[in-house]
Amino acid sequence: GDAFDEAQFRSTNARVMDYQEKADTIIKRLARSLEKEDLEDVKNLILELEIVCPVSGSKNWTDVKQFNLMFGTKLGASADSAMDLYLRPETAQGIFVNFLNVQKSGRMKIPFGIAQIGKAFRNEIVARQFIFRMREFEQMEMQFFIRPGSQKEWYETWKQNRMKWHLSLGMGEENYRFHDHEKLAHYADAAADIEFRFPFGFKELEGIHSRTDFDLGSHEKYSGKKLQYFDPELEESYVPYVIETSIGLDRMFLAVLAHSLVDEELDNGSTRTVLKIPAVLAPTKAAVLPLVKKDGLPEIAHQIIDDLRLDFNVTYDDKDAVGRRYRRQDAAGTPFCITVDHQTLEDQTVTLRHRDTMEQKRLPIEELHAAIDKEVGMRHWLKKIL
Ligand code: ATP
Repeated sequence: GDAFDEAQFRSTNARVMDYQEKADTIIKRLARSLEKEDLEDVKNLILELEIVCPVSGSKNWTDVKQFNLMFGTKLGASADSAMDLYLRPETAQGIFVNFLNVQKSGRMKIPFGIAQIGKAFRNEIVARQFIFRMREFEQMEMQFFIRPGSQKEWYETWKQNRMKWHLSLGMGEENYRFHDHEKLAHYADAAADIEFRFPFGFKELEGIHSRTDFDLGSHEKYSGKKLQYFDPELEESYVPYVIETSIGLDRMFLAVLAHSLVDEELDNGSTRTVLKIPAVLAPTKAAVLPLVKKDGLPEIAHQIIDDLRLDFNVTYDDKDAVGRRYRRQDAAGTPFCITVDHQTLEDQTVTLRHRDTMEQKRLPIEELHAAIDKEVGMRHWLKKIL
């Protein structure tokens, strides 16, 4: 019942404590063997624990193998002069190599960040779940350069900033969570993922890593070129520490699409397909629909488009009944439909229909721009993050 104290139970129940000790010993041995690259011992561990394949029940294991994680190729005019080359598994290293170029030419002072978007390639053993995991994908990464010693503070700041960015898209607080890493990569002194609730469960969407001076230090060591920053306030030179934020563009695209596309049951028992994509990301911001194809309504619709298109991507549709046109725009994620009818001829007003609420309100044509901008404009969205 309510009085149950799990922590106390775990730390006092003899059977549970015995299991926990066994589990800890196994995990420690596995970590030790992996660290030493003693793959034979990993295989022995599997055999000793009599681990069976969960699908076939078989214990007939192959030796434990190291997988190739990168794609190799050759660079060079002829076969004998060709050198080995590897496709990058992350975009980050280009930023590190160019760190001093950017800092000096941009006259940047620490702390500052460099962000870039680009292709990354990984020899994923299982590439699946649509575009969630691919061998060729697009990353959006930022390396934020800071003073050594300030990494804990900046790491926390970036964790919060990035979560705020995700939440600002309005896809539901309950669909995000942090996962702090216990086992850290060789370059990190702290790491966390922002996980998103995909249709197949909570999965990593973005990684935030405190990379210390590992990368700049290694480039210095192997290139023999200094990558130090002279801090005018401290009057000393140092290799900066780095906080990295790294998010897959394709994975983000999948998160938005998977979350937004819904079949919604309406009060009258029918269903509509609607792409509830955050308005700021919608490919088309508004559709202008003349109620009928005559009486001068199409002309007014085109005049409205000519004005709005300077700021927003807008579209025109005069095919089928207006209800069907609304549905088409709902499915394409268009946040607004503007309907021109006979009343427009008299008083210069139109109806503005909202994709998510399906509410319609009448307003003067001259107020359309402001009403749309308030919901789809970058400026209004960015203000939420400030
Ligand atoms: P995972 O645990 O899903 O394999 P990772 O920890 O290897 O990811 P990072 O190295 O932190 O990922 O890469 C940063 C981001 O790049 C990830 O959060 C993810 O959005 C994206 N990403 C990584 N690998 C892939 C892939 N194979 N296909 C698509 N996106 C990827």
